[in-house]
Order: sequence, then C-alpha cells, then structure tokens
Amino acid sequence: MQLKLNQIKNVYCVGRNYRQHAAELGNDVPEEPMFFLKPGHALLPMDGRTLELPANRGDIHYEAELVLHIRRPYEPGIRANDMIDSIALGLDLTLREVQTALKRKGHPWLAAKGFKGSAPIGDFKPYPGLDKLRTTLFQLRKNGITVQSGQSSEMIFDIQQIIDYCGKHYGLDADDLIYTGTPAGVGALADGDLLELFWDNALSGTLRIAMKA
Ligand code: ZN
Repeated sequence: MQLKLNQIKNVYCVGRNYRQHAAELGNDVPEEPMFFLKPGHALLPMDGRTLELPANRGDIHYEAELVLHIRRPYEPGIRANDMIDSIALGLDLTLREVQTALKRKGHPWLAAKGFKGSAPIGDFKPYPGLDKLRTTLFQLRKNGITVQSGQSSEMIFDIQQIIDYCGKHYGLDADDLIYTGTPAGVGALADGDLLELFWDNALSGTLRIAMKA
C-alpha cells in the first residue's frame, strides 16, 4: 500500500519518546510530548533507492520510528482509533553533530533534522488498532544486523496522548503524518550501508546510503 507522499501535509515528529533512547543521548525524559516538524521535502520512499548524504557534516544518525497516517480532522475527545487509517515505518535521519551545536546555541533543529531526504519512509499498511499495535514489534536492520527494535507499548507518551497533544496545540487533519519517536540503538551511518525496516519479519522498506563529500 503506497500513499502519494506529495499529498502529505504536515510531517510531525516526537522527540525523546522512549526512555532508553533519551538516556543514551544524555537527555532528560520530557514532562510533555516534544514535537518538531520536518518539511514535506524530507520524505523519501524506501523502495530500494540510494540516498546520498553529506560526508563532511559530522555523524548522521538513523532513528527508526513508527509513523501514523491521519485520516480526518482532530476534535477534542476523539479516539486515536478513529484518527488513524494506516501506519508505516520510517527513519528520522539526524545530523547529530549539527544538532548538538544547534542545541548548545538554542537554535531550531531544522538544519539537523529537516534536510532533503531526512524522512525516508517504507510502505504503508492498514492500521491494526491501538491494542494490536502495542505488541507489534518493529526493527531496523543495518547490513543484515538488527540495530533497533521497539513497539508502541514502550513509548513514554502513548499514541492517544500524542494525538491529543498534537491535535490540541498544532492541529491534525487528513494526510498529516506523525513520526512517534525512536527506541534505543541509534547510531551513525557509513557509505554503502543497507537499511531495512521490518514489522516482525515482514520487510517494509529498504534504503541504501551513499556518503558524498
Ligand atoms: Zn526521532
């Protein structure tokens, strides 16, 4: 099931939504969900293509994330099960050293997380409902080795809380996406890396990395 990525309106992302990932970067666990945006131009289908990334801007980290596709306008009290119609796995690619410098200066994250191609995304599949999703494992394999795995039951802010917070403060409507944060195990990419996202053992997207100076 392939959505037209050029129909997507907003690409919301949640930061620090898994305890062990916040800890691995030395960040505190937030008291309320922390959102940021990526431009639509960041989206890229994980259809086996190669993504060129800059070799001269410091480490670029992969962050595998569960992505929600929104089907209708938000209204207070609405259930997440009525807001979501499909899900995907995606990568929140991050220029980590640029991000550290931006954080230090108190500058926005766009340069670190919003560059073109920074939001690769696999195939969409029908949303199975919150209960089923809680125990659906997702994984990122790098060059055949599992480097990240998680499930929505491990989130600090669950999907209902994410929908409510985002809808209330920023708005949600049909064809918005939400990247829901990454579990532990993020790391730097290298030239030639093969990235594969899996639902349990079902392949959902593939991307090859090329580092260019
Ligand atoms: Zn992320």
